[in-house]
Amino acid sequence: MAGDGGPADPAGDSGRGEGPQPGLAQLGEPVVAVAGELPGWAALVRAPNPGPMTLDGTNTWVLRAAGGGPAVVVDPGPADEQHLRAVAAAAGPVAGVLLTHGHPDHVDGLDRFRELTGAPLLTATSTPLLAATGEPLAGLAITALPAPGHTADSVCLLVDGAGQRAVLTGDTILGRGTTVVAWPDGNLGDYLASLRRLSELAGWPVLPGHGPALADCAAAAGYYLAHRQARLVQVAAAVAAGAGTPAEVVAVVYAGIDPALRPAAEWSVQAHLAYLDEQARESSTGSQPLDEP
Ligand SMILES: [Zn+2]
Repeated sequence: MAGDGGPADPAGDSGRGEGPQPGLAQLGEPVVAVAGELPGWAALVRAPNPGPMTLDGTNTWVLRAAGGGPAVVVDPGPADEQHLRAVAAAAGPVAGVLLTHGHPDHVDGLDRFRELTGAPLLTATSTPLLAATGEPLAGLAITALPAPGHTADSVCLLVDGAGQRAVLTGDTILGRGTTVVAWPDGNLGDYLASLRRLSELAGWPVLPGHGPALADCAAAAGYYLAHRQARLVQVAAAVAAGAGTPAEVVAVVYAGIDPALRPAAEWSVQAHLAYLDEQARESSTGSQPLDEP
């Protein structure tokens, strides 16, 4: 998608018509508690691509248990030579690369990173991922959890290393603010279902695709669900008040938005409008009497 450099909801977690101009300042606060420390098996290398849509930059995660053999790298990040070399240096030997989703700020550096390290691209499956030798990858139990919504291809990775657990969420849950549903590839109904699954991970730290690690996936997912519900109410109210197009809804729900963020706001609004349409169709179908001739 042209210009889709990142995940952040352009109105952050307030998204009200009044109030300050959205942007980095508004996106600056984690919505739930930040993790005190990273699991011992995780290292973060942050790419130098900060911006209103990428927060501090893309997080590349290097995973390896102590004595666990070659590392696994999640989301090489943008095609930035210095960043990719820093990841390769932090990782040492690499057993493979995993992706949380296909947005360019996460995958543009993939080919160059594979050249630098010789590492294969691994396919995330729902069973624990194994190295070619049949051993657990990087000495860790890594399981993929499909999490469509931000994009159709989004996955989260559940990782357990010697009882230290965490979930890598890509752009499905961010370390600051809330994420955008990148309509039409993204789908709000799918996203809400993914968040409900993530809301069951009580006590699991979150290692997100942007921003700091969070202490509790269930708390973050619960906040995101409430935020989406509030945004749905705002969009439905704007439509009821006469807003007919996504641009008109954006003008009400995201009044005063930085013009650079307007396209992302329109995708997000389109995702909400599509969801409201779906709901309306379902309820009108459901209310038809079944015994009519
Ligand atoms: Zn993304």
